[in-house]
Amino acid sequence: EASSSDDFQTLLSWADTHRRLKVRANAETPEDARRARELGAEGIGLCRTEHMFFDRERIDLMRAMILARNKDEREPYLQKLRVFQQEDLLALFKVMDGLPVTVRLLDPPLHEFLPHGEEDVVELAKRLGRSADEVREAAASLSEVNPMLGFRGCRLSVVMPEITRMQVSAIIGAAIEAIEQGYQPYPEIMIPLVINVREIRLIGEIIDSSIRKMLKEKSVSLRYKVGTMMETPRACLGADRLAPEVEFMSFGTNDLTQMTYGFSRDDAGRFIPDYLENKLIEHDPFVSLDQRAVGRLMRMAVEESRGANKNIKYGICGEHGGDPRSIQFCHDLGLDYVSCSPFRLPVARVAAAQAQVLSEG
Ligand code: PEP
Ligand code: MG
Repeated sequence: EASSSDDFQTLLSWADTHRRLKVRANAETPEDARRARELGAEGIGLCRTEHMFFDRERIDLMRAMILARNKDEREPYLQKLRVFQQEDLLALFKVMDGLPVTVRLLDPPLHEFLPHGEEDVVELAKRLGRSADEVREAAASLSEVNPMLGFRGCRLSVVMPEITRMQVSAIIGAAIEAIEQGYQPYPEIMIPLVINVREIRLIGEIIDSSIRKMLKEKSVSLRYKVGTMMETPRACLGADRLAPEVEFMSFGTNDLTQMTYGFSRDDAGRFIPDYLENKLIEHDPFVSLDQRAVGRLMRMAVEESRGANKNIKYGICGEHGGDPRSIQFCHDLGLDYVSCSPFRLPVARVAAAQAQVLSEG
């Protein structure tokens, strides 16, 4: 099928000369990043750092760190996690040489990092030097009824700022290493699940002070940005206040949809099919943006924040970033980029070009 693949390449290069929206990928591994570059990614728009800790050894360290009694007990686990984090990010910066890589601070639904059964409890008890009962109790004290609306995102940075310090030091450490090896890393540090400017100031100060210290020690200069996810209605409604403190805003429309509808991401699948069948909703809002509601919050956020800070770059990194109708909306809204799964990049490039052509009438 050489000819149809040639046709497709022709279509994609047509798309690239016509689109204004940039396309980025959501990726955490060098393999995905490489594939993303091949498929035309102009950066990584979302690196979900929690996904980098899912394999066996790392998840055990992460669980122990989360269940540790205090900062001192957390420290040795953080040091080990930092090594993994830095190695992984170095690999990512190398693949994405010269292009922006948006690294999001840890945003786990916490239950993913709690023990899942007796075997985990026994393993953790051994690691932490505590009894199985103590571990069960510590885990129970962190277990949540609704983890998707719980102890996630920057809330974790507020309660355990040492995690943020570890991550920032891994991000900047990896960037410095990449520079030393002749690459041009461009990290963008992104704060998840923000609701207000005070969170950004508090966490921004942790980020900035760590970065200043590290860059001064090594006397290197590094291009980087600090920005925020826009994924709570509260953040969108107060975007003008957030604006002076950030260099970019990225709409997390998965969470923004969940919170606008009050449909838990964990549970919505149980009733959305019936909502569709009974025509109570026009389409699945987790697949294609609900422009009247979620889109309206986005529009409000862009207009008000732009009024307060002209230099902000805007993106979207929820699933909608790869959906053609949603991409059209993002184009009309004047976002700078969409970020989606690597395999959706070709469709995103074409949709972005189509949006441009349509807007030119
Ligand atoms: C989002 O909420 O849209 C998002 C991109 O973040 P996550 O899906 O990781 O919560
Ligand atoms: Mg989110």
